[in-house]
Amino acid sequence: MDFQKLCTFETFKQLCSHYGHGDNFQDVIEQEFARIKGITYLDHAAATLYPESLLRDYFQDISRNVYGNPHSHNPSSKLTHDTVERVRYRVLQHFNTIPEEYSVIFTSGCTAALKLVAESFPWRPQTESEAGSHFCYLTDSHTSVVGIRGLTSARGVVALPVSPQEVENKAKDEAQGEDAICQTPHLFCYPAQSNFSGRKYPLSHVKGIQARRLYPACDHGGRWFVLLDAASHVSCSPLNLQDCPADFIPISFYKMFGFPTGLGALLVRNNAAGILKKTYFGGGTAAAYLSGEDYYVHAANISDRFEDGTVSFLDIIALNHAFESLCRITGGMHNIQQHTFGLARYTYMLLSSLCHGNGRPVAQIYTEGQFESPSTQGAILNFNLLDSHAQIIGYSQVDRMASLYNIHVRTGCFCNTGACQSFLGISRQQMKRNLQAGHVCGDNIDLVDGQPTGSVRVSFGYMSTFEDCQKFLNFVAECFVEKPVTVDQVRLEKLKTATAASHVLNEDPAIKITNGEICKVDEKEKPTDALLRGFGQKQSNSRREAYTLNNIYIYPIKSCGAHEVHNWPVGQRGLLYDRGWMVVNGNGVCLSQKRAPRLCLIRPQVHLPSNKLLLQASGMDTISVPLENNTQMHTSYQVCQSKVCADRVETVDCGDEAASWLSDFLGQPCRLIRQSPDFTREMKTRRSGAATIASLSLVNEAQYLMINRASVELIQELMSSRQDDSEGDPLLDTQNVISRFRANLVIAGVEPFEEDNWSHLIIGNTRFVVTGQCGRCQMVGVNQDTGTRTKEPLMSLSAYRTGKVTFGVYLAHQLPEGSTTAGVLSAGSLIQPEPHSS
Ligand SMILES: *Cc1c(COP(=O)(O)O)cnc(C)c1O
Repeated sequence: MDFQKLCTFETFKQLCSHYGHGDNFQDVIEQEFARIKGITYLDHAAATLYPESLLRDYFQDISRNVYGNPHSHNPSSKLTHDTVERVRYRVLQHFNTIPEEYSVIFTSGCTAALKLVAESFPWRPQTESEAGSHFCYLTDSHTSVVGIRGLTSARGVVALPVSPQEVENKAKDEAQGEDAICQTPHLFCYPAQSNFSGRKYPLSHVKGIQARRLYPACDHGGRWFVLLDAASHVSCSPLNLQDCPADFIPISFYKMFGFPTGLGALLVRNNAAGILKKTYFGGGTAAAYLSGEDYYVHAANISDRFEDGTVSFLDIIALNHAFESLCRITGGMHNIQQHTFGLARYTYMLLSSLCHGNGRPVAQIYTEGQFESPSTQGAILNFNLLDSHAQIIGYSQVDRMASLYNIHVRTGCFCNTGACQSFLGISRQQMKRNLQAGHVCGDNIDLVDGQPTGSVRVSFGYMSTFEDCQKFLNFVAECFVEKPVTVDQVRLEKLKTATAASHVLNEDPAIKITNGEICKVDEKEKPTDALLRGFGQKQSNSRREAYTLNNIYIYPIKSCGAHEVHNWPVGQRGLLYDRGWMVVNGNGVCLSQKRAPRLCLIRPQVHLPSNKLLLQASGMDTISVPLENNTQMHTSYQVCQSKVCADRVETVDCGDEAASWLSDFLGQPCRLIRQSPDFTREMKTRRSGAATIASLSLVNEAQYLMINRASVELIQELMSSRQDDSEGDPLLDTQNVISRFRANLVIAGVEPFEEDNWSHLIIGNTRFVVTGQCGRCQMVGVNQDTGTRTKEPLMSLSAYRTGKVTFGVYLAHQLPEGSTTAGVLSAGSLIQPEPHSS
């Protein structure tokens, strides 16, 4: 295969099973990042890019609300204080921890957070009788970490650089742990991810270091604290502090969100916070002090104690919108990790196989492994280019040419001399000679005596696309490869097989929901595998891409518009909040699209982070009602919705604001009601033999309705072949047809209607039983975009399905034996169907 063929989306998709964050990835990126059109931005490790909606939401927020100084006590100050506290909570949530475990100290960035630890760590100097504190750091550390040395050496504290190779894993029983007698505090710093090579250092080392069983050089009696420099890691990866209880974690937010800048945090484990000594005290940090005497009592609260002066409160408020937009666009850090890793891995595979016409390699890549897995490698690729005589091409030249192509990369030593030295093989003497030769950090003296002084780094973000990789690779081929461009097939094949196995294992992670936020963390075991084991089945590897869950829709208000979601919790009664509400007329009778087609123009959205149901429709102001009952809404009454569903359901009224909003829009008096949380209604199974008891929301028939995109496409074809006699109905696009069937789950199947023959299926880590087929009526004639009616697709459907006009199947979930917690459904998940045994 030649290089051009390898550099296509088709090949990319073959090599990379995860791309984008949902169906409309490309559209979203074009909308949110219009400003990078024409630019190939590959410097996300230095600063990533912010989406436009983040700025818009933030601007709206701060232009509508009055935010005062959080240290005052007036209403505007209170608003700031409360919002900032919420953001602290949100930050902790992102790292899967809670205020009882960790505190957030806002700083101006990662470096400031590092400096805060350095300055307040209770260093004990080395004396004749005592060894004193040790400051250990991995040589693959950022300048800002190594710089702590400036402070320790001034205080007579021993600094010990350790190289990544020095790690030695002692058995658990050999571990020393805390020293009961000697309480000398020591600090060990290492990066969760190298900002040079993207190598991820094991997070499990945190516990190992705390237990003194990893680095012999640092095995000194006392208490070891771990500073985990997560600045580079958190930009594209989840970090779960429950698994790795580091004592101090410094971060910079622009590396995660692109905006705001000038804001970072030190996450401090509450257990460790007590040892930090406050020296300087700024405004807001004191419980009491005297100006005429050396008397200062620090604030009890850790955040207050270390945040000198007024925090950058508007930037902190922006963080809230940053988290929101990130979650909205990507569905969480796990997706980001998969997406960016896929791009980096592909680029690595091609770049490392790329050869000059004479067969010599084009790039020397500085990496520890071979991009096997996102748990050991981040979305960073560091390299130097070689000419056809194996001579290094200086990074400055690459940088200049890249700029010509509007490709933005980073070159030099990346504030990480340790990694630079070890990867480029520069000795200490050589480093000093380079300085004498006039080379200083950040300049463009890229070669001294033919030896490189630095390298080139490309790095990816969640908005990076395949085209970015393609442009970059084509650029290298065009500018730096002696023609004809060739590919080392053997190497490429090796890489493919080396990485394939572990890559597959890293898909489909365990999913964690914390307080309504959906973020995927923790990639220990692939739940599907566990589940399959639980059901005593083996996963068939053939056709594993055959069925995927394409879309997930919830319909929060019965008969109203759909709300598409990408990762969504499975609740007791189906998808969480699906058909949790309904609209009733003045007499308390449920409205449906049969009677009121305009209902489909109401687009309710469940907003989990704020715990709100948003009511929105074109021409109307958006309003919201709480997802859960609050105390004012106890006017509980019962409704009997005769025809739509013969069952009686207990409901709660959602108040006057929602009622008048709906009445305005629908042109008749009506009210919004929701199902009482403690009310259960059971599903009647049609399929005999399936002893399924499932509780239902306000839905008509079943917990879930699933349709097959292949069936939709078939119906579409029939519709267009019937066009001539279809009395002028316009041709409908696939999405339009899909929306008419009002499914919860849309799968990409192979054959139309094959789901009719399934008895069970597994999606992600949830198993479902098929409870019946969904009979169709004129309801599918309602165009969900406009509220108007057409005869299609019912005409074509009934012509095709002679007799029973069914489309799609009903499902009920089956939680594994003994399990009470339901999982999360994620768009893009694989589906394992189980056909009826014949
Ligand atoms: C970026 C980075 C830093 C420094 O962050 P600042 O925002 O410049 O303070 C420290 N460590 C690592 C690993 C980084 O990637």
